[in-house]
Amino acid sequence: MNEKNELKELKDELFYAPKHAMDVIGDDEVKKADDFAEGYKYYMANGKTERESVEFFMAQAKEKGYSEFDRNKKYTAGDKVYYNNRGKSLILCVFGTRPITDGVKIAAAHIDSPRIDLKPNPLYEDTSLAYFKTHYYGGIKKYQWTALPLSLHGVVVKADGESVKVNIGEDDADPQFVITDLLPHLAAEQMKRSLADGVRGEELNILIGSRPFSKDDESEKVKLNIIKILNEKYGIKESDFLSAELELVPALKPRDIGFDRSMVGAYGHDDKVCAYPAAQSIFDVENPAYTCLTVLTDKEEIGSDGNTGLNSSYMKYFIADLAVMGGAQPWNVLSKSECLSADVNAAYDPTFPDVSEKKNSSYVNNGVVITKYTGSQGKGGTSDASAEFMGKVRRMLDTSNVVWQIGELGKVDAGGGGTVAMYVANLDIDVIDLGVPVLSMHAPFEVISKLDLYMAYRAFKVFFEQK
Ligand code: MN
Ligand code: MN
Repeated sequence: MNEKNELKELKDELFYAPKHAMDVIGDDEVKKADDFAEGYKYYMANGKTERESVEFFMAQAKEKGYSEFDRNKKYTAGDKVYYNNRGKSLILCVFGTRPITDGVKIAAAHIDSPRIDLKPNPLYEDTSLAYFKTHYYGGIKKYQWTALPLSLHGVVVKADGESVKVNIGEDDADPQFVITDLLPHLAAEQMKRSLADGVRGEELNILIGSRPFSKDDESEKVKLNIIKILNEKYGIKESDFLSAELELVPALKPRDIGFDRSMVGAYGHDDKVCAYPAAQSIFDVENPAYTCLTVLTDKEEIGSDGNTGLNSSYMKYFIADLAVMGGAQPWNVLSKSECLSADVNAAYDPTFPDVSEKKNSSYVNNGVVITKYTGSQGKGGTSDASAEFMGKVRRMLDTSNVVWQIGELGKVDAGGGGTVAMYVANLDIDVIDLGVPVLSMHAPFEVISKLDLYMAYRAFKVFFEQK
């Protein structure tokens, strides 16, 4: 008996055993996590696209005393600024008491999510039904997007330069849109297609109308009726689609999932489930020692390229401005900086165990997940965080009782993926991926745990509060 206890003690001391958050935290913290999720759900209902997310967080920032960044101004510790990059990415910054040459602390999350974009010339009529042609954005399983209520979000820049905001399908009084699918009775041939090919890119056509403009003997009267409605409502003509960014996203509201309400189901957890806590944590940080940045970026889902993505220079230029203000060289600040690349990981799904390796997977409710490297085919296309930085982050989380776990993105050679981490690392910044495990990642309706979401908030906060 004694010997048995001794062995158990030795195991407890020497083995690594990830813990369920409920085994670690108290009732008060569970309550805090549940409350935090309410604010998150509100955001998820109102910030479904990168543009709407920027507006959401900018409004919040202004309420919290943030002002627009001016590179010609002098800032002092405690000042709060935001930098809006083309309405699609946003930097929130709080100035610290330490000199800028000590580097900055960055939490970088992305606010774009997989979706269906309109083609530049989208509108057509076929057999008295009106449609939009689309080009999907990011990694989706196309079959998941049919027979699903969709809403239309974005912006149209008219011929005269005026910009018109579009948001149709979220309000209960709004119409919605849908991609139709074949009935099973007639899908014998379709069902023989592979899942990847089950619904094809050119079959993702959005049904937008069916009633003709008039009884006249003219062609394309349904299309005419649609553009007439759009013209009356927004003042746009068909050619204005050529200068538009219009995105279809699931018209689903965030909901609690499970009898115990422990999870949240919503569109776009990847990566808004990291963007939201990254923003709230910088809002809540008081008089930080280091200058802190929350970077909410665009275009991650298509590889971070483009001037609103983190493979561009906008974050580097922002930090360079801070450096110049502090009389330092930009690279001296970058080299001393640290970043939590705040992105989701795939939670272990017991229904599909084959793609995961159990010892190195992240689990729902085991806390925020640290991913040392992503990539594919032997760590290709990633930043593999150093043991030193991993050690530092681990100590930081442990001393603050943040529940965390380690996780790879699936089995070796099962597939893979990437985050913004490598683009940050390429700036000579220490970086590691840290985020929330997600079930059904990239599906129109993804699932996360409220406790994991809250642990992400706590992790970013202690990262910003380093002395
Ligand atoms: Mn992501
Ligand atoms: Mn993603």
